[in-house]
Amino acid sequence: MSGDDELATRTWPEIEAATVFVPLGSTEQHGPHLSLGTDTAIAVAVARGLVAVHGGLVAPEIAYGSSGEHEDFPGTVSIGAEALELLITEFGRSAMRWAARVVFVNGHGGNVGALAAAVTRLRREGRDVAWLPCGTAAPDPADTHAGRIETSVMAHLRPGDVRPDRMAAGETRPLDELLGVLRVAGMRAVAPTGVLGDPRGATAASGEVILAEMIATARARLEGTVDRYGCLQKVLT
Ligand SMILES: [Zn+2]
Repeated sequence: MSGDDELATRTWPEIEAATVFVPLGSTEQHGPHLSLGTDTAIAVAVARGLVAVHGGLVAPEIAYGSSGEHEDFPGTVSIGAEALELLITEFGRSAMRWAARVVFVNGHGGNVGALAAAVTRLRREGRDVAWLPCGTAAPDPADTHAGRIETSVMAHLRPGDVRPDRMAAGETRPLDELLGVLRVAGMRAVAPTGVLGDPRGATAASGEVILAEMIATARARLEGTVDRYGCLQKVLT
């Protein structure tokens, strides 16, 4: 992707009142086989894909999020929900002094509570701010963290961040069966290797297809309506 659509490479007279896409990720364990920057890399790729089809600018990514449930694993850095909510709120207030719209592109499920709180507040204040998740049209509840989906997308985006020799099946029960323990005791209590899903069989080729589907799903949301959590929802036709 050229630097043309990147906020950070423009000068101020080159800024028009455009939609600004803000990748929001995490620095968080993704099993023994996938890098800590996975969520951020995927959010950046989806934001760039959106700008390519929709226009607008990609802001420098927010690479830290609310990842408390992963803090038992070395490398994870969580700023927590409270700090993240404040960060998103002040980002939106500042950027909306010149942007036409701000859309946060979220790569990490743990950020959703803070995102919803901050974005609904910004909207109450009269600012055109919204968010959308990075996901496929029909998410697999048994592949939610460092499984085949994320591993494939990373094999496509950043093959050097994948360690094929360390891929192993993690906990493969659906997420809703695990959430109770996950929220109270953290990821390590649910999945000792930090994987929810099975990364084996991930390929760069399927990652390219999955990423394209994530971008298409995000684009469909962009044309849709904002729900009471500030999240863009595709209009059902
Ligand atoms: Zn992830």
